[in-house]
Amino acid sequence: MTEKPLLEFTGVSKTYISGESQLSILQQIDFSLPSGVSVAITGKSGSGKSTFLNIAGGLDKPTSGDVNFLGKALRHMHDKELSEFRNRHIGFIFQSHILLDDFSALENVCIPSLIRGEPKKNVSRRAAQLLERVGLSDRMDHRPNKLSGGERQRVAFCRALVNSPELLIADEPTGSLDEQSSRGIEELLFDLVREQGKTLLLVTHDMQLARKCAVVYLLHNRELQELT
Ligand code: ADP
Ligand code: MG
Repeated sequence: MTEKPLLEFTGVSKTYISGESQLSILQQIDFSLPSGVSVAITGKSGSGKSTFLNIAGGLDKPTSGDVNFLGKALRHMHDKELSEFRNRHIGFIFQSHILLDDFSALENVCIPSLIRGEPKKNVSRRAAQLLERVGLSDRMDHRPNKLSGGERQRVAFCRALVNSPELLIADEPTGSLDEQSSRGIEELLFDLVREQGKTLLLVTHDMQLARKCAVVYLLHNRELQELT
């Protein structure tokens, strides 16, 4: 018997409508993400990778088709239910700019768990452990604007992991870093995924990075094609 996928797309299409014009981005996509596997979606700029990821993470809705996560149909969820579901089950990592500059690195990592209503003491301890793991124990009290790009991204990894989500979603996670820091940060991401047994859905235009995942898809002409 095969295990049920963590995430499943059935006939997912997305069309952006603005005024008179319609822009079809995804067409009838079927996609299945097994638990514990790392999958990359690659493709040219503008091919719809971020659109795909936002739909996968319940940040955007498809025009038609179904998205199932942990056996639940996302389209049947109301906004509040959906944001609680995301907070609990999905960790998001974006290219940049997701940390709040008015808070310390430690506080930034704590935010998703505090939103969930967890006691601050427990949260702080877990956040500190994560920051230690990524080599930032001496930067916990720093504001993000006092950190380097690579350090900020390490804080963002901790924030994505603090609620122990099943799925990590990363959109060009090293897109704002120089080549050298990119490689170190990529390695750290894959190490964390492995250590914590996460499922990873990674979007990148960088084929070298995509190839570090077990399965690679190319998004092209609104369709998803598995690369071998
Ligand atoms: P990628 O991440 O592969 O670069 P995106 O998913 O960001 O691609 O965008 C795919 C296409 O959809 C682009 O042409 C982009 O301009 C367009 N697009 C993205 N978001 C919107 C939106 N909210 N409204 C209209 N068009 C959009
Ligand atoms: Mg994008």
